[in-house]
Amino acid sequence: MSSDTVRALKRRVARRDNGCCYVRGGEDADELEHIVPVSQGGAARDLDNLGLIHSDPCHREKTAREAVEGSRRAREKKIQKEDRKG
Ligand SMILES: [Zn+2]
Repeated sequence: MSSDTVRALKRRVARRDNGCCYVRGGEDADELEHIVPVSQGGAARDLDNLGLIHSDPCHREKTAREAVEGSRRAREKKIQKEDRKG
């Protein structure tokens, strides 16, 4: 997505949500964020999948959560593979 597209989407989402963070509802959320990450099948340009988020702490916490989720999934995949082998 070009930065122009991101800016345009951000304006629309900000107007829709009155600049409120979709995580905690606080005002002055400063980042546009995919609610379902594109890497997990979320739509990149779907306004329904876009929300505003505070870069700190909300986005930071979400990223940390997703990293934990990701490593848990990777571990499970590995275990399944080892099960098949055994
Ligand atoms: Zn927030």
